[in-house]
Amino acid sequence: RVVTELARRAGLAVENALLFREAEERAQAARVLQTIADGVVLLDRDGVIRLWNAAAEAITGLRGEDVVGHPAEEAIPGWAAIAPRVPVASAPGPTAAESMPLELHGAERWLSIAGVGFEDGTVFAFRDLTEERVLEELRRDLVATVSHELRTPLAAIYGSALTLQRPDVSPDETLRGQLLDVIAEESGRLAQIVNDLLLASQLDAGTAGTTPRHCDARDLAQQVVTSARTHLPERIALELAAPQTVPQVRADPGQLRQVIANLVENAVKYSPDGGRVQVSLEPFDASLRIAVSDQGLGIPASEQRRIFEKFYRVDPNMERGIGGTGLGLYICRELVRRVGGRIHVESAPGRGSTFTVELPLASPGSKQRKPASAGAGRPTPA
Ligand code: ADP
Repeated sequence: RVVTELARRAGLAVENALLFREAEERAQAARVLQTIADGVVLLDRDGVIRLWNAAAEAITGLRGEDVVGHPAEEAIPGWAAIAPRVPVASAPGPTAAESMPLELHGAERWLSIAGVGFEDGTVFAFRDLTEERVLEELRRDLVATVSHELRTPLAAIYGSALTLQRPDVSPDETLRGQLLDVIAEESGRLAQIVNDLLLASQLDAGTAGTTPRHCDARDLAQQVVTSARTHLPERIALELAAPQTVPQVRADPGQLRQVIANLVENAVKYSPDGGRVQVSLEPFDASLRIAVSDQGLGIPASEQRRIFEKFYRVDPNMERGIGGTGLGLYICRELVRRVGGRIHVESAPGRGSTFTVELPLASPGSKQRKPASAGAGRPTPA
């Protein structure tokens, strides 16, 4: 009996040891799954999520506790749309992963994804390609935009210079003046493109210096309006509507001026049939609202978020013949963000656009300075 009992105990010990090893191996496998950079997801035969590793959480933003135990089609937005296209091999081994976009609550992630089927379900592994795609798209946009935008002024400068050089043509004073004007103006445009490119890259790298201090946005807006009026197309009326005094904001004056100037330049540029462009300033809670509105082409709702992206243009093929680098609004947004403000747009195609910048006041608690003259404080056209 003793021998039998010993044998039974030995058997139990072996069984426990085996169970322990199995558990240990499973725990180790789970740890490995949690540390690898690829998203790994296990769906059972009914399509219910059984495993969701840390990388899957990080890539999709969906937490394991919210998705495990739920059908993938319900728990992962956009899964139903891509699932039929995901390549699934019937045995482990190299499967050509395919890249496809997964729509997650309005945000799109580009995944390189493949699956392996086994008897209890399917394991999917995926990698996030979003950053690479964004970089690749940016590179393409940069080359297309810069080469196009540089070529137009360069051609004008080159053509004017060649005409001035021709020994067989002696241009009169007027023509000479006009050609020199073209050269000066187009060189200015080239310099502006290069400056915008540099500033955008400094903003990206975090090396653009911003020196916020108390400044008078009304003064800056007035300067922008006065300067823009010197070369305004005839069909455009540009006006400033602001109280005589507005509370000071905390911003970098040079950069705030650039933001307002960019918005005014766009309002004029995207109003090819003319109209009224208005810059208005108005205190609102603890901030100052600077709005630039036009009656121009307007922007479809689907594009209103994207126009603030670097190099993004609604009409990249220039069907309306209006050029640009797609950097202006990106620069505006970044500069405004740096001083704690925000920028947004309201627009409807064919009905014009209003871009609004909201900047925190320099001293949010303080009352607006008393206006010097009677009647001030009301918006007055300037
Ligand atoms: P750019 O004007 O150089 O193309 P921006 O970054 O300033 O670049 O603007 C991005 C895009 O947003 C423009 O290409 C244009 O399609 C759209 N946009 C900007 N401002 C306006 C406006 N006031 N009215 C209509 N569309 C605009």
